Amino acid sequence: MSTHADLRRRIRVQEILRDAAFERLHPRVPGGHEHGGRFVSAGSALSELLDIDRIDRAVASRVVHVHADVQPEVAEMLRHQLVLAPRSASRLVGIVLEGPDTEGGKRYIAGRGRGASGSYAWGVDGIFLSPYWVHPKGGPMLRDATETGHRSGWFAPTGSATELQSTVAHEFGHHVVSGFTAHDGMEPDMARQLLPTLLETLGGSDGSATPDLLDPSETVPTERLDQWVEANRDRLAELVSEYGASSFHELLAEIWAEYSTMGDEARPHINIIGRLMHELAEGKQP
Ligand SMILES: [Zn+2]
Repeated sequence: MSTHADLRRRIRVQEILRDAAFERLHPRVPGGHEHGGRFVSAGSALSELLDIDRIDRAVASRVVHVHADVQPEVAEMLRHQLVLAPRSASRLVGIVLEGPDTEGGKRYIAGRGRGASGSYAWGVDGIFLSPYWVHPKGGPMLRDATETGHRSGWFAPTGSATELQSTVAHEFGHHVVSGFTAHDGMEPDMARQLLPTLLETLGGSDGSATPDLLDPSETVPTERLDQWVEANRDRLAELVSEYGASSFHELLAEIWAEYSTMGDEARPHINIIGRLMHELAEGKQP
């Protein structure tokens, strides 16, 4: 029984499959030859870009495909997230930000619209950022809009992070969440670990009203979690952010954005949930 070799082979096959899925979504990413030197992509590029010594090779080999104009800005936040959550980072397939005139950039706009500053691809484990971040006119507009969003409470606070970096932190939050729950529902065991703290900290619920959430006997569908968010919308808009109050997954991504960027400066209730999310995705601290 050559279990180690088998395991390595299985992992490699999984990686190839995931890379293939990523490639289907963004066919021009892997390899990264045809970009006129404007992109960093694949291979050990991430480790150079991020100046990583201690993060393992699994992380360093992820695909990074980010327009040169914003590479340092994206890299700084990505590095921060990788250091904070290395296990989640090792599952990240890549991060993509193409210019608006590229095929991939056009596909992003066609698929996600002009308003989406970034998106997370569930099942592919990749982060995509809007081409408008590097558009001569669209870029400043997008930055203005997200800044207004932060000022008005539409988005959770993210300290000294730039607007683009805040978006990276938010999308990485979806990725962290994908490490402990599926997109369409949460296993009962996981629900029992997360939801009592979440509801106690944010929901103001009396436990008896939500036994299906506090002590579920079967998978909790995301629709059910969205119902809870909807029922507590005003409170969650206040305690997390207005955008976070739009769905369960956005709520967790917003909490991660604040927790991961602000550290001890994050609001206490955000810290409690952020730490729990960290533990569920990364394992208990030794
Ligand atoms: Zn989101």
